[in-house]
Amino acid sequence: MAPRPFRLGRARTGLGIFATRPIKKRTTIAEYRGKMLGIDAALKAEKSGNRYLYEVNSKWTIDGAKRGNIARYFNHSCNPNADTFVRDRRVFIRTIKNIEPGDEICYDYGRDYLKNVIGLENCQCSRCRKRRAKQRAEARERNARKKKRLAAAAAKGVKKTKKVAKKAVKSRKTRR
Ligand SMILES: [Zn+2]
Repeated sequence: MAPRPFRLGRARTGLGIFATRPIKKRTTIAEYRGKMLGIDAALKAEKSGNRYLYEVNSKWTIDGAKRGNIARYFNHSCNPNADTFVRDRRVFIRTIKNIEPGDEICYDYGRDYLKNVIGLENCQCSRCRKRRAKQRAEARERNARKKKRLAAAAAKGVKKTKKVAKKAVKSRKTRR
């Protein structure tokens, strides 16, 4: 593999990996390195809160928690520009889009991780942030329309109540 075309940098969720030069689609850029754990050891590591476990297959999991494993810094995205592939029980990260310098390089950690570790509503990837911003804007618009409707209804209501009040006064008088 050629020298790294990326660097470690500040991302929205801590650290992340950013391209330092253009990278062509389908370039293998890193390996997810770590100790190979069997099923029991992997379960134990998971229970102790290790978030850098990569399940290679039904038997083997890579413990990528060590700092030397640069690949542990790739963040999750629901709209990724990279993915991972396994070859001879080794895991590699490869681009799936052409990448520009400065782009954060992310891959999809998978539905289980998103649901159980990140939380569906906590995902900070660009797609989820855009989606939530759109939802917030739509909610604001709905609220503004509702307020307008209520204000209009209230204005009509004031006129009605005045009439009703007059009638009430009259009826009280007639009753006396
Ligand atoms: Zn997301």
